[in-house]
Amino acid sequence: MQVLSVASEVFPLIKTGGLADVAGALPGALAPLGIRMRTLMPGYPAVMAKLGETRRVGGFDSLFGHPASVLEASHAGLDLLILDAPALFDRAGGPYLDRDGLDYPDNFRRFAGLSLAAAEIAAGLIDGWVPDLVHVHDWQAALTPLYMRYDRAPQTPSVFTIHNIAFQGRYGAQVFPELALPPQAFAIDGVEFYGDVSFMKAGLAASTAITTVSPSYAQEILTPEFGMGFEGVLSARVDALSGIVNGIDTDIWNPATDAQIVRPYDPTGLAERARNKAALRTRFGLVESDGPLFCVISRLTLQKGMDVLAEEIATLVSGGGQLAVLGSGDPALEAAFRTAAAASPGQVGLVLGYDEPLSHLMQAGADAILIPSRFEPCGLTQLYGLRYGCVPVVARTGGLADTVIDANEAALAAGVATGLQFSPVSRDGLRLALRRVFSLWRQPPLWESLQRQGMASDVSWDRSARAYAALYSRLLTKG
Ligand code: ADP
Repeated sequence: MQVLSVASEVFPLIKTGGLADVAGALPGALAPLGIRMRTLMPGYPAVMAKLGETRRVGGFDSLFGHPASVLEASHAGLDLLILDAPALFDRAGGPYLDRDGLDYPDNFRRFAGLSLAAAEIAAGLIDGWVPDLVHVHDWQAALTPLYMRYDRAPQTPSVFTIHNIAFQGRYGAQVFPELALPPQAFAIDGVEFYGDVSFMKAGLAASTAITTVSPSYAQEILTPEFGMGFEGVLSARVDALSGIVNGIDTDIWNPATDAQIVRPYDPTGLAERARNKAALRTRFGLVESDGPLFCVISRLTLQKGMDVLAEEIATLVSGGGQLAVLGSGDPALEAAFRTAAAASPGQVGLVLGYDEPLSHLMQAGADAILIPSRFEPCGLTQLYGLRYGCVPVVARTGGLADTVIDANEAALAAGVATGLQFSPVSRDGLRLALRRVFSLWRQPPLWESLQRQGMASDVSWDRSARAYAALYSRLLTKG
């Protein structure tokens, strides 16, 4: 089976969030199941710089007014198709934002370009290779199924995966004439959404199947609280919607072999984690302590509940806990964490920024990872936490609810608990969760059973890859 995957970020070439991890890991997980996945992504400067040899396999005299090429390349085991369109992607900032942190004003054109190129590939742009199925990720690739519907591979099945329905690619109707779509596409079964253009809407309307990254989130987005305006559209397509939890790359995230940590360990040698904890304390300027060391590795945003956490840091510290925060995001939240760190020197440490190696050391050295998200389509950091014996303390929502087994009495008695869930995401909710953590921390055998159970959880891609493969097969036999 030949599948074209389309994503705006792919690890290890470029990453701003979980989407990149998924797009980077899925091809490798599907290969043993007989599926060849080629991944189309934009040729941002950071990506072009990492590529070795490339070969031009297709091109456009004019892709939204400028020449563009499709280059074949391989990197880190990935079979890549790079959309080399300098007018769209050769920019000094990040993939979506300029150097001042503002959206590029022509993002609609940049990602329409990515989507149109994908549809042309589905229609045979590349000599000798046509995908049987197209799998597109998030709003940046979501116009693809709509372009396919109109004359470009209308029979080829497509899957649209929502990694976060909060990011929708919504623009004023005035951009529509620039999208190279036929007039009838500006309609309820196309790209039109409350009089605007919405890329997300196009993906939901035109794809053969819709997936999101956990069964709970698939249910939640059918409701006004989580659907962000799309609950109606989704309800109309509920038969096409399913949830498949993400896995993680268990080679990159393996505490027994991880070169980014000070002391490798496995479930039989949990005491070895102490060396990582010591290194982590040094890195964050924390003093020796008997209490649990919590970590946060996150975008600092309201979605992630970071405002609630910032307000409860005093509770965490007064209970004997310490906190190490790695993240960046809203300036107001960055300031709140800076203030909290200054107020509790030696107990609260902060690294503002993005640091992949440090995130490994944190999972290997911290006792618990806090994830108080208001919504969480899947979440990856709790999966890394499980794998590293860093007990996840999570909001009961989306993929967090689906992947962490709460340490309630029944689960503890059955020996299956892997972490703590709490609800609601409020100061009271978090305070109660912290109280439960401290109580479990004072019972080392119970705490260690959480760690060991977590480390025994299957967080690999195997199960998810089988679910995607089964979905692809269903769509192909239906076609
Ligand atoms: P989201 O995609 O909503 O940001 P996920 O939990 O799905 O959240 O994925 C976040 C990914 O980004 C994880 O791999 C996490 O380890 C990583 N990450 C987030 N913030 C940082 C940071 N400041 N430094 C290093 N890695 C980070």
